[in-house]
Amino acid sequence: MGLIGQTISKLRELLVGKKVSAREILDAHITHIEKLESNICAFNTLTVDLASKQAQAIDNLIANKASLPPLAGIPIAIKDNICLPGYPTTCSSKILSNFFAPYAATVTTRLFEAGALCLGKTNMDEFAMGASTENSAFKLTRNPWDLSKVPGGSSGGSAAAVASGDVVAALGSDTGGSIRQPASFCGVVGMKPTYGLVSRFGLVAFASSLDQLGPIGRSVEDVACMLEVIAGHDAKDSTSLNEPLPQFTRELSGVIKGLRIGVIQELMGQGIDADVSTCVRTASEVFRELGANVAEVSMPYSKHALPVYYIIATAEASANLARYDGVKYGYRSVNCEDVLSLYYTTRKEGFGPEVKRRIMLGTYALSSGYYDAYYRKAQQVRRLVKEDFDRAFQAFDVLICPTSPSVAFEFGAKTAEPLQMYLSDIATVPANLAGIPGISIVCGFDSCGLPIGLQLLAPALQDLLLLKAAYAFEQATEFHKQKPPITAAIECPS
Ligand code: GLN
Repeated sequence: MGLIGQTISKLRELLVGKKVSAREILDAHITHIEKLESNICAFNTLTVDLASKQAQAIDNLIANKASLPPLAGIPIAIKDNICLPGYPTTCSSKILSNFFAPYAATVTTRLFEAGALCLGKTNMDEFAMGASTENSAFKLTRNPWDLSKVPGGSSGGSAAAVASGDVVAALGSDTGGSIRQPASFCGVVGMKPTYGLVSRFGLVAFASSLDQLGPIGRSVEDVACMLEVIAGHDAKDSTSLNEPLPQFTRELSGVIKGLRIGVIQELMGQGIDADVSTCVRTASEVFRELGANVAEVSMPYSKHALPVYYIIATAEASANLARYDGVKYGYRSVNCEDVLSLYYTTRKEGFGPEVKRRIMLGTYALSSGYYDAYYRKAQQVRRLVKEDFDRAFQAFDVLICPTSPSVAFEFGAKTAEPLQMYLSDIATVPANLAGIPGISIVCGFDSCGLPIGLQLLAPALQDLLLLKAAYAFEQATEFHKQKPPITAAIECPS
C-alpha cells in the first residue's frame, strides 16, 4: 500500500502492526516532496535531518516494544512564523531571513513530544499578511489543484504541502482566516480553534488579540488528532486558556440529529460567487438529511467585520512589528550612518510593500487625533460583531457560510488592488474578532474542478461540537477523498 495520502490512524496502524517503520514512512514522503517541490514550492526550509532523527527515535521505541506517542511517525510541516531552534524562522520576510529562534514554540515542542516527524517550514505571506502567499519575500507557492492558481494564504505553504501529500498535516496561524482560507483553496481541512485554546508562545506575533495557531489536515479526524496534541494550557502564554479539554478524536461520532444549524444570510448573497453559495446551500441540505434543523440566520453587523478587522489588525501589527529595527536580531542594513538611519534603512529594505502598508495604516489608526475615530470606534464595533454571534448562538448550535467568496484565483489577480485581496477575508474575519472557533472543509468543486470550502462556526470553547458537525458532513460525503490531479499524475505516471 502507498504511504502517501494516508490518514494518521492508518499510518499508526501500519506502524504499530510493524508493517512499516517510521524511516519508511519518512522516506516515502521525502521522495514525494522531491518529485513535487519544484512545482508546488511549499517549503522555505526542509528539515530532513531533523525528521530523520525523529524517525530513528520512533523506530527505537518500536524496537524496545515501548508504547508509541499519538503522532508517532507522522510527517508534518510547520508554518515559517513558528519557532523551531536550529533552523531559520523567517516569516517569509527579508527582515527575518537570517533569524534563528533560540527557543521552540510550545506547539513545536508538543508535536515533537507526540512523535511527529517535522519535514520543514512552509512558505507564507510575509508576517502572515495576505490571502494568497504572493506576499512572501522568497517564492510563489502553487495550488496543487491548478498550478496557475494561488494556494490561498497566509498559510499557503502549509495547505499546499498537505493537499499535495508532502506531509500528513501541518500547522498554520489564523489572524483573519489564514488557516481556513488556504485550506478551502487547497481542498483540505483547516481549523482555527477558540482564541487561547492553543498556546502562541513562539509564534511570531501579527495581531495579538486575533492570532491563533491551528492544524491543517486532509480529514476532520486528522485535524482533531493534531488539535488534541497542541491544545491546552501553557503558562508561557498569558492568553492561554486553562480549561478542561475533551478527547477530540474519541468523541467524533457522525451523529448530529437535532443539531440546530444557522446559515448566515449576509454571507450567502452579494460578493459571494454563485458556484460557492450554491455549493453551501447544497451542503445545508446534507445537514438536513443528517437530521439537523437548518434555518437562515441574520447577522446584521457582519458587514462591518472587514473594516473593523483591517483597523484592529493593522494597529496591533504596527506595534508588534516595531521591534524589527536591525538592532537585536534579523536583517540590518549596511546603508546607514547613525542609529536613526539604521532604523529607517533596515525597515525600508527589510519589509515588503504589504507589510509597510499595514504598518502605516495601523500607525495612522492609533495616532492622536485619529485614535477615537478609528481604533476606539473599531473596538466598539468589534463588540457589536461579537454580540451578533452571541444572539445567533442562542438559537443555533453551529453556523455555516462559505469560507471564501471565491475559489482559488490566478496569480496576480488581486495584487494590484489591495482592497480586492482584503475582500477575500469577508467570511473569515468575524470569527477572529469574536474569538470563536471555525473550521473549513471541502463541500464541492466548481466547474473547473477547484475545491470549494464550507465554513462552520461554533461558540467559544465548543471546538468539539464544531469538529463533530464537520465530521458528520465529511462522513456523509465523498469530496474529501478527491485528490489534486498533480498527485494522481505522480502516483500513476502515464
Ligand atoms: N488575509 C488576512 C490578512 O491579510 C488574514 C491573515 C491571517 O489570518 N494571518 O490579514
